[in-house]
Amino acid sequence: MSKLAILGGKPVIKKPLPPYPSMSRDERKAVVRVINSGLLSGFYGSWGEEFFGGPEVRALEKEWSSRFSAPYSVSVNSATSGLIAAVGALGIGPGDEVIVSPYTMSATAMAPLFYGGIPVFADIEPETYGLNPARVEAAVTPKTRAIMVTNLFGHVARLRELKQLAERHGLTLIEDCAQSPLATEGDVFAGLIGDIGVFSLNVHKHIHSGEGGICVTKDEQLARRLQLIRNHGENAAEALGLTDLTNLVGQNYRMTELSAAVARAQLAKADQHVGVRERLAETLTAGMAGLDGITPPAVRAGCRHVYYLWTCQLDAQTLGVSRAVFARALAAEGVPLMTGYVPPLYRLPLFRQRVALGKQGFPFSLSQRSYENGLCPVTEHMHDQALIGFEICAYAVSERRARALVDAFHKVYRQRAKLRGLAEQPQT
Ligand SMILES: *Cc1c(COP(=O)(O)O)cnc(C)c1O
Repeated sequence: MSKLAILGGKPVIKKPLPPYPSMSRDERKAVVRVINSGLLSGFYGSWGEEFFGGPEVRALEKEWSSRFSAPYSVSVNSATSGLIAAVGALGIGPGDEVIVSPYTMSATAMAPLFYGGIPVFADIEPETYGLNPARVEAAVTPKTRAIMVTNLFGHVARLRELKQLAERHGLTLIEDCAQSPLATEGDVFAGLIGDIGVFSLNVHKHIHSGEGGICVTKDEQLARRLQLIRNHGENAAEALGLTDLTNLVGQNYRMTELSAAVARAQLAKADQHVGVRERLAETLTAGMAGLDGITPPAVRAGCRHVYYLWTCQLDAQTLGVSRAVFARALAAEGVPLMTGYVPPLYRLPLFRQRVALGKQGFPFSLSQRSYENGLCPVTEHMHDQALIGFEICAYAVSERRARALVDAFHKVYRQRAKLRGLAEQPQT
């Protein structure tokens, strides 16, 4: 049995994994096409044909709608912009509560704040890391207006259940799908069970254009409101004879023709880009069989997991060593890992100090909600104790390298008793 790398042996994986090759000739051709056209953005910030952007932007929206069976797709310059636009489009206002997950990228929970909305955290379920419907139900008050659910790591939350819950209470449902393109629950794509779904095209995601985002919806009025918020809606209100001006203070969330052209090339190969990650994840998951105390990702019946991250839960009790030490030993073998994900969002200084917009504590001044530690124990357990993640979208992993990743887990697992003397290092 070869010596553990952390104890001075040779690592299983000797060279850093190469980055995932996301760009190809198709993207290069797309960029050249736009440069040659001379039109790098087709938007005007006033009412007219150009209010909806240039030919690449419109083609991307059409193609996105077709691939995702989405009646309406509205491109934006990031998922962050898309989430904010979604909150605005749904009419959220000062003091309105929006139930969010604490285990997601910060942008999800920030979005309500821009309209004076109050993020209210509900805990996740341990199986899929999505919002736990029972915890959501317990968080509903007369002030609740919406639920923002994140389909985290590439697996859907209990979307149909959350949608039914939302309808029962007269709430809307926003889906953050930044990590879950082509994931499904039943035969419905993530993004289309809620009222608005928001995808990311940033450089870290399955398919990307550097920066970018897409909102999808089945509702024509919502699509129009998203378009208005995207592009200086105040200038179009009169021409459109709008009676409800709520939240139509427009932004510039417009996507460039360059980004749209690259995104179109990426979308055309979305099945390939997603499929590569899925197959690698399946190899890794199969490789964990028989390793007691290491729980690879679950896939709920009838769902498709698309693996933005491949995650495991480590049970320190069963393993006999802490996650920190086990993960360090894996890292020494050349497995690039994260421990935890982002800290529970209510630990951010902004929530702790209840300071967001201006100096008077707005919008927290409109609410009694507090953001103490202990609010969401499952999330805290995952982040602080159990979860490790492999950034499956980031690397090019051949079959040989995939086997080496699995071998590294087995090597560390078999010799874990030798790790017991190693000191914990402070977690970052
Ligand atoms: C990446 C990500 C975002 C933000 O996407 P941008 O396009 O960078 O704004 C939002 N939510 C989640 C869950 C993400 O992973």
